[in-house]
Amino acid sequence: MLRETAARIAAANGLASVEDLGSIDDRATAIWGVFADAGLLALRVPESSGGMDASAIEVCVVAVELAATMTPAPFVVQGAIVPSILAAAQASSVLEPVVGGERRLGVAMSVDLQRIARPTTEAVCVGAAGADGVLSIGDDGSVHLHAISETTAIDGLDLTQSMLRTRLDAGQQVGTLSEDDRHRIHALTLTVLAADLVGLMQAALDETVVYLRDRQQFGKPIGSFQALQHLAADAAVLVEASRSSMLRASWAVDRLTPAGALLAARQAKAYAGRAARSVIEACTQCHGGVAVTWEHLMHLRLRRALLDDQLFGDQRVQLLAIAATRLAEDHTDAEIPPSTTDGLNFGDSPDEAEFRAGLRAWLHDNPAPEVGDGDDAEMDAQHVWHRMLADAGWVGLTFPVAYGGRGLSPAHEAILNDELGAFGAPPAPAINHITNAIRLFGNEDQKTEHLSGMLSCRLRWCQGFSEPNAGSDLASLTTRGERFTTADGTDAYRVNGQKIWTSEALWAQWCLLLLRTEADAPQHRGLSMLMVPMDTPGIEVTPIETAYGSREFAAVFFDDVVVPAENLLGNPGQGWEIAMALLGFERGPADMGWTARLGRQLSLVEAAIRDGQLSVDDVQRHSLAEAWVELEALRVHVQRSTSARLDGSAPGPEGSIDKLLMTRADQRISHALYDVLAARAVLEPERFWQSYVWSRAQSIFGGTQQVQRNLVAQRVLGLPR
Ligand SMILES: Cc1cc2nc3c(=O)[nH]c(=O)nc-3n(C[C@H](O)[C@H](O)[C@H](O)COP(=O)(O)OP(=O)(O)OC[C@H]3O[C@@H](n4cnc5c(N)ncnc54)[C@H](O)[C@@H]3O)c2cc1C
Repeated sequence: MLRETAARIAAANGLASVEDLGSIDDRATAIWGVFADAGLLALRVPESSGGMDASAIEVCVVAVELAATMTPAPFVVQGAIVPSILAAAQASSVLEPVVGGERRLGVAMSVDLQRIARPTTEAVCVGAAGADGVLSIGDDGSVHLHAISETTAIDGLDLTQSMLRTRLDAGQQVGTLSEDDRHRIHALTLTVLAADLVGLMQAALDETVVYLRDRQQFGKPIGSFQALQHLAADAAVLVEASRSSMLRASWAVDRLTPAGALLAARQAKAYAGRAARSVIEACTQCHGGVAVTWEHLMHLRLRRALLDDQLFGDQRVQLLAIAATRLAEDHTDAEIPPSTTDGLNFGDSPDEAEFRAGLRAWLHDNPAPEVGDGDDAEMDAQHVWHRMLADAGWVGLTFPVAYGGRGLSPAHEAILNDELGAFGAPPAPAINHITNAIRLFGNEDQKTEHLSGMLSCRLRWCQGFSEPNAGSDLASLTTRGERFTTADGTDAYRVNGQKIWTSEALWAQWCLLLLRTEADAPQHRGLSMLMVPMDTPGIEVTPIETAYGSREFAAVFFDDVVVPAENLLGNPGQGWEIAMALLGFERGPADMGWTARLGRQLSLVEAAIRDGQLSVDDVQRHSLAEAWVELEALRVHVQRSTSARLDGSAPGPEGSIDKLLMTRADQRISHALYDVLAARAVLEPERFWQSYVWSRAQSIFGGTQQVQRNLVAQRVLGLPR
């Protein structure tokens, strides 16, 4: 409801054209009464002072909507930061008229825009439109109110809000903030600025998607050109990751310790500040010449985004502060408070917390084999451990009880993957996509025969889809299955062809094989899915060595392989539908495991720096913090996607956004490790090289980065094919 209210106000009062800029201060004054009537100025004020006692989440909800239309009223400064400072400082006599909308105050910033100014210094008053005073904060936390006098207007970059330059006097002290209050207000401020940035970039992208669909060149909509689709897809990924980061930071303001809240806020601000610039630049490019004209609103968004980025420190400032915090202490076990409400939540429910504790205890008592180069001995040890994991009931968590699973929510699956990754244990057996394909498309006999073997980890499966000439264009595959009757009267398929890059084919007992069975049907309808025992005569598996020397994938050759037709999954010609359905199950909670594994990798390097095993300069610290910021965005986004699944809805094309974020984080971390290890990366390459190569594979397997961008552009943004 709050979002709808804010969106209505934003739609009615936003900037419709650059002509509106002429009357910006008058418009701000007119809008202020609307804000006060809707209670938007009282959000962060305690009920005891006539406020709404709202969380920072609500403040950010409003900020996003108002920024989307560039509503020309300084809500962030006058509506969120000022009331928060006054409420925390218990300056109730100043606060009351501010909340009622009768009095308006701005904030005095240091001239480098990085912090709230101290009294008796040179200052820049931001959000000053219509204000008769500004607040400053002394080093001891004292809050001072200054009358606005002897100011010079600043002809600054952002045209949607006015700024003034002044020399502050001593002002009138109206209250004092504790150190915790100051951290929390700092966190709130950075987060609301991130929300403003999210609103700006979302609106830029929305407008661009419409333009890409409408504008024609070369006789077709420009949105059908892949170069522009990929720009738009990357922009969508950045918008969603910024939104996820901002949402978590807004939750953290009130739920984490002040230091934890500040770290989350710095992450969100660093991410959104950089993302907004990239997104709006990409949107400008998609428009061609029109977006660099004075009349177009795009430059107003860019101007405001650049100011937001600078306010309270740009990305560089945030990254160095993040590096200082993370390298000063170990954050691996940072406590997340349990969830207590139905609202936005990042903690475990009591039931989830119990599940996590039980799992941790089990992992402690049943040490996992070390993850290394993936040689045969390691894979055998991993198989044995997976069976132990299954026997203890940790496999098939979300699978229905009727088929041998535990019927738990995707949150439990996410916790399992999270803990395995954090412990440095091997990933959970990657069977979800195949078990679900059999559950959804198999007959009862097939479910009985295969599901228990998979859920108990007795039997290993591989996925035979890709072929030498059918990778991204999977539907063009040519491995053939001809239906015939064997000499003993069995209805069967004779299979001929070759698969490639088949992970774990060397150790698998079964293969889920996508092949062409309906020679006369259109390309996608001619495919079927067969379940093939790997010891069937005529199958030959040839390992392919990876760039770091493991044998985890292989080429699989089929030479007159006879497979009973009862092994067909679904109907003849249904193979493509099954393949598409099962690929969705590869994402989601499983991503939590990758994320935790990357987090562990980063934490180990940070620990080595803390212990003095590695020394780093500012550039290397910056690189590490940048990797952590990218990883956090991924982690929070995966949590958001997982919660979207808690209602049982099937995974959709939005999973491609998660995959693209995974690629960004993995590759960013690898680069950070290279930056930090420097000469060691080439003199002692063992662990670095493996994870580096793997990060490059991340943008290839499970649909390449380019294919994922195509999916985001066409199926999430709705651009024409
Ligand atoms: C570690 C790893 C494990 C794997 N495991 C399996 C497995 O278990 N089972 C299995 O079946 N396969 C597996 N694969 C194969 C994987 O699915 C394919 O590598 C992937 O689909 C890409 O196919 P390709 O390698 O033939 O590249 P290609 O499709 O030839 O792509 C080459 C380049 O062209 C680009 N490209 C292709 N089409 C388009 C397009 N329409 N628009 C824009 N760019 C395009 C690609 O993005 C890429 O950059 C695995 C791969 C890896 C790296």
